[in-house]
Amino acid sequence: MALSSENKLSSDIQIIKGIGPKKAALFNKLDVNTIEDAIYFFPREYEYRSPINKVASIKEGMVALCLKWKGIPQITRKSKGLSIVIRKGYDETGIIECIWFNQPYKAKSYKYGTKYYVYGKAVKRPDGYQIQNPFVEEYNELYHRQPKYLPIYPLTNGLTQRDVRLVTSEALKLLEFENFYYEVDRYITKRYNLISKVNALRFIHYPEDANSIRTARTRIIFDEFLQIQVATQFIKSRIQRNNTGHVISISRETLGLFLKDLPFKLTGAQERVLNEILVDIKSGNVMNRLVQGDVGSGKTVIAAIAMYCVAINGYQSVMMAPTEILAQQHFDYLTKLFNTCNSTNKINVGLLTGSMKESEKRKVKSALRSDRIQILIGTHAVLEENVSFRNLGLVITDEQHRFGVRQRIQLRSKGKAPHMLVMSATPIPRTLTHIIYGDLNLSIIDSMPPGRMPVKTYVVHSGYRKRVYNFVKKHALQGNQAYIVCPLVEKSDNIDMRSAELVFQELTKGILKEVSIGLMHGKMNANEKEEVMQAFAEGKTQVLISTTVIEVGINVPNAVIMVIENAERFGLAQLHQLRGRVGRGDKPSYCILISDSKDDRAFKRLQILSNTNDGFEIAQKDLGLRGPGEIYGLRQHGKPDFRLADPLRDYNLYVIAEQAAKEIVKQAEIEPFKEFICSILEKYEDELFTITAN
Ligand code: ADP
Ligand code: MG
Repeated sequence: MALSSENKLSSDIQIIKGIGPKKAALFNKLDVNTIEDAIYFFPREYEYRSPINKVASIKEGMVALCLKWKGIPQITRKSKGLSIVIRKGYDETGIIECIWFNQPYKAKSYKYGTKYYVYGKAVKRPDGYQIQNPFVEEYNELYHRQPKYLPIYPLTNGLTQRDVRLVTSEALKLLEFENFYYEVDRYITKRYNLISKVNALRFIHYPEDANSIRTARTRIIFDEFLQIQVATQFIKSRIQRNNTGHVISISRETLGLFLKDLPFKLTGAQERVLNEILVDIKSGNVMNRLVQGDVGSGKTVIAAIAMYCVAINGYQSVMMAPTEILAQQHFDYLTKLFNTCNSTNKINVGLLTGSMKESEKRKVKSALRSDRIQILIGTHAVLEENVSFRNLGLVITDEQHRFGVRQRIQLRSKGKAPHMLVMSATPIPRTLTHIIYGDLNLSIIDSMPPGRMPVKTYVVHSGYRKRVYNFVKKHALQGNQAYIVCPLVEKSDNIDMRSAELVFQELTKGILKEVSIGLMHGKMNANEKEEVMQAFAEGKTQVLISTTVIEVGINVPNAVIMVIENAERFGLAQLHQLRGRVGRGDKPSYCILISDSKDDRAFKRLQILSNTNDGFEIAQKDLGLRGPGEIYGLRQHGKPDFRLADPLRDYNLYVIAEQAAKEIVKQAEIEPFKEFICSILEKYEDELFTITAN
């Protein structure tokens, strides 16, 4: 590794002349701490500077000149805070006046005899042209001769474009070809017809022309995809190579007996996904599979069958859910399921959550170690170090969007190369899934169990609010339940939105005073939330007023109404998730979206929900309207954010980068690829450690 200037790249930006602690602190606000950070701090757009003009041929508009100064600057102070500086400059074709308002220091700052690059707006005056408030810097033959694009950076209070340009241009001077594994770089540039990484980084800040902006962006986006792909492809190849999977098989007859006792027949989609899983776990390789299915599509039973197979092969399974209630629900569901469906094989299901008594936890843990529990359901508590299994064969995470890659891998490290199943209801379009969960194979449950009544969805203005609450009351008095979701916890003076606390106060004193109401929001601690949710699940409260904390897959079949206040504040995918909380029983259900948005488009957007119940279709439409980053936030999924890449827009480039990553990973044993891969993997160090330790 020839990182001669590696130290320079990791140095503090204060090594740059002109950047002291005060300026540095401002840069830190922008997450720019080191030289390397500065290099990766990309402009948000560019300002085009025309080629150098001659004084004699100036026209009105923006002009760039190359001038020397002449005579004494004239300073006029009109009133407090208002000053004017006029200074004359010349080139070989004539003299011109420059004028600055309220920048008295300009008068002193420029030397005589030196050529300056002067850029500003030329305005015609009776006695010739005048350049107003020009930008001035020392003329540099190399740098100023050609027309150019200047970077415009995101700023923070106290920093100017000039400061940032200083830092980025100085930082780029420290960049050398050796910084980027130039042999690999050359391989990539040749094979994929891209510009070099170093040039891309230079041009993204200081492009030579419009085309170089484009080629620089392409290369950087390619690299962003490449990095992630190299890491995931490498990890994937290691898992497949180093870890032969436990062979789990089940005979048709045994499976048939189990399925026969189910209270329902699996849907075609469920059968297909189940089959994909059974093929995986029988194969001798380690399964890494993501099961994606809309809320209510029946993922739990698929997980249950997989765990059943694993159990009758003599291995243990663990399934992790993001909340206690969800874990409890899964536990109840599975206990019941195995009682009805499994007459011959005795399978014990255990529960482990943070709120259990220490003595109970201890019992469960010891039962796990001695294999008296074959299936463990739990919350994050199962990740604790002192939870160990005798022979873990399968790990499952439910509602995966609540967990990061790290937790998934932590869970896996509880066994020796266990199979892995990841379940998610977040309807992410296929293209994105591929990127976010690059190391997983994908199964989609794309149809609903029969007989599901679609949730009737209405979009109404707040003029209807009273009627909506009365509708809730009518149902509550009949013994049904309802959710009311608000965008805020408490009232805020400067935002005009309904808060959960306000609605709670209004309704407990007003329309719903005869009904028992629960209040739940993100400012409560986990135990408090669990208690409120539990009371609602048991029917002790009939209306639950809440912020979006109820989002995760809770099942209260008796809840038939979902009211959402200020619905325009939510993404469609999120609204769809919330709507999935109702319509889980056999009664007709309703989702009422209240919105006063004056924006016609916002209203139309909500209307999409009344037209379809298909989560994938909704996600795709929402994506078209809002862009992927905003909706899913890649970081939430445990992957680093992209700076320039947009997985949907740049999908073609992604496909090429994926191909390139595969080729590079294939050559992992050979230099220079080995070193290159290692440098990327360092960023994923923790995860890698766990995998190789397996
Ligand atoms: P999710 O995919 O959101 O986790 P669940 O697994 O909780 O969905 O299933 C929702 C409900 O549908 C459960 O009550 C489950 O028993 C039921 N269910 C699952 N599969 C079928 C099926 N094939 N036919 C009828 N009901 C089903
Ligand atoms: Mg579920």
